[in-house]
Amino acid sequence: MKKLFVADLVDKVGEEVELYGWAQSIRDHKKVVFVDLRDRSGVVQLVGDESLAQVSSEDVLYVKGKVKERPEHLRNPKIPTGSIEVEVLEFKILSKAKALPIPIEGDGYKISEEARLKYRYLDLRRERMKRNLILRYKLLRKVREFLDSKGFVEVETPILTKSTPEGARDFIVPSRLQKGKFYALPQSPQQYKQLLMVAGVERYFQIARCFRDEDPRADRAYGEFTQIDIEMSFVSQEDIRSLAEEMLVFAIKQVFPEKRFLKVPFPIITYKEAMEKYGSDRPDIRKEKDPDLLAFCWVVDFPAFEWKEGENRWDATHHPFTSPKKEDLKYLEKGEYEKVRADQYDLVLNGFEIAGGSIRITDPKLQAKIFEIMGHKKEDIEKKFGHLLEAFKYGVPPHGGIAFGFDRLLQVILNEPSVREVIAFPATSGGRTAVMDAPSEVEPSQLEELGIRVVEEK
Ligand code: ASP
Repeated sequence: MKKLFVADLVDKVGEEVELYGWAQSIRDHKKVVFVDLRDRSGVVQLVGDESLAQVSSEDVLYVKGKVKERPEHLRNPKIPTGSIEVEVLEFKILSKAKALPIPIEGDGYKISEEARLKYRYLDLRRERMKRNLILRYKLLRKVREFLDSKGFVEVETPILTKSTPEGARDFIVPSRLQKGKFYALPQSPQQYKQLLMVAGVERYFQIARCFRDEDPRADRAYGEFTQIDIEMSFVSQEDIRSLAEEMLVFAIKQVFPEKRFLKVPFPIITYKEAMEKYGSDRPDIRKEKDPDLLAFCWVVDFPAFEWKEGENRWDATHHPFTSPKKEDLKYLEKGEYEKVRADQYDLVLNGFEIAGGSIRITDPKLQAKIFEIMGHKKEDIEKKFGHLLEAFKYGVPPHGGIAFGFDRLLQVILNEPSVREVIAFPATSGGRTAVMDAPSEVEPSQLEELGIRVVEEK
C-alpha cells in the first residue's frame, strides 16, 4: 500500500511524498495559498501557489509535494504535524465537494440529531466521532486479546433463529420457503451459548449483535446493540466475576490510561442493600463525580422472580435459564417464589447497568419447573424449549456466563450523553435507521412470495 498517513510525515523532512485526503480549510493569501489536508490520521499544512485556490473545502485531493521543516516562529504546537508543512509540487482534485449540509468541525452536540444521522457519513468525519469509532475498535481488540489469552474461543451463532426470552419483544423475519412461518432475531445468543457448553467448548465468547424490539427511549439506540457475550463451564459465580473484572481492568487500562478505578476488586452489594441504601438496583457509588473516575460494583442476590401484575404470573427477573441459589431451592418447593434468590450478578458502572449474567440451570426437571412457574403450558415448553431440555439429557457441564452491553460500557467510559455517539450507524430512538431510511415498504411481489398481506390501518 503506497498511501501514506499524514501523521507519519514528521520524520520525512526533505523527502518527496504523495498524499491523499480531504481539503479541510483553505487560506488564500493570493500568491501563497495554504490548505489543511486531512486524512484519517490527522491534518498537515500544504503550501502552494495561486493554482491551489481552486480547491474548495472537503474536496478530495491527490498531492505530490516536499516535506519541509517550518521556521521556528510558524510552528503550530497544537497539532502533531505542526513542525512541518508540505510544499505542493503537483496536485489534482479527485472529487469536488458541495457545501456540506452539516458542519463537521466542533463536537456537534448542538446540531439536530436527525440531520447528523441522515448525513452520518459526514458526521463521522468529525474528530470526536472518528475518535469514538477508533476507541471502540481498540477496546474490543483488547477484550479479544484478553479472552484469547485465557483460552476462550469466539464462536458465531445464528441471526435467523428462534425466539429466546430476554424480556423484550422479538423482531421476526418471514420465511419464504415455509410460508406462514417466521424466524426470530436473537435477543441474545443465550441458548446457543449454553448448547456450546453441552458441546464441550468450555470457554466461549462472541462479540454478538442482539436484537430487541423495545419501546423508544431517548438514551437507547433502537433495535440492536452489541454484547461481549461469555459462557464458561465448571465455574463458580466468583470465577465469572473475577474474570470479568480482570478483563475490564486490563482492557480499560490499556486503551484509557487516564481513567481511575474507584475500587478493585469491585465492591459487591446485595440487591437488598442496594435498594435500601441507594433506592436503586443500579447504584452510583461515587462520592464525587470526576469524569475519569470509574466506579464499578456488582449487585448480587436478586430475587429470582418478579410478579407481573397485569399478566397475573411470575416472570424470571434475569431470564428463565438462571439458576436459583441452592440454599433457596426449599422455597421453590414450598411455592414461596418471592423468597427465592437467583444465582445472578449485574455489573454497574457509574449508575449504569453494563453487564449481567448468572449460573445456569442444568437439571432438565428444574428448568421445566421454572418455565411452569412462569406460566408456560407443558406443550408450549416442549415446543419452545424442548431442544434445550433434550440437550441437557446428554451430559451437560455445570456452567454460567455473563454479557456486557458494549455500547453502554463505552458510552459511560467516554462520558457521552447517548449510546448513539459510540455506534457508527445507529437507529434513531424512534426506530429509523441512519442514512438508509428504513423501515420502508417492499415490492408487492416480495410480499406475494412470502404469502403476506399487509392490513391497511383505518
Ligand atoms: N443473555 C443474558 C443477557 O443478554 C446475559 C447472560 O445471562 O449471560 O442479558
